[in-house]
Amino acid sequence: MEKKVCEHCRCTFFPSRSNQKFCTNQTCRRSRKRQWQSKKVRTDKDYLAAQKEVHARWLEKNPDYYRNYRKRNPAYTRRNQLQQRVRNRCRRGVRSSQLREKIAKMEAKRPVVTGIYQFLAVGPDGDLIAKMDASYVQLTELQTLTICGP
Ligand SMILES: [Zn+2]
Repeated sequence: MEKKVCEHCRCTFFPSRSNQKFCTNQTCRRSRKRQWQSKKVRTDKDYLAAQKEVHARWLEKNPDYYRNYRKRNPAYTRRNQLQQRVRNRCRRGVRSSQLREKIAKMEAKRPVVTGIYQFLAVGPDGDLIAKMDASYVQLTELQTLTICGP
């Protein structure tokens, strides 16, 4: 059989079946499964209902999962809260131009701006500790919001 290009990683591979579109790497197999499952959920209502049932049962066994996930991922949580606020306002019929204005004001209040920052060691009296090396860190804004309507 001829070589094919994997739809996920773009590497070339020898397929074992003529309709094989993904190579055998684990990440590519997972990608294929996600693609399949995403389509299945959109097209098969019984499958969707079964998946919801499985998730509900799993959640009963792991009631703290989402609370712990939010604690471990504060950036995700903040982004989610902002998006929910946007959805709530869209539902209430707040015009998106008003919303953009409010979000812009909220953004302006933020103390952190994307960029490269230098961390310097400072002692308890506020003096710079000269013998410590400086560290650099890049802070990047991950938040993107989708605003509904005109
Ligand atoms: Zn691949």
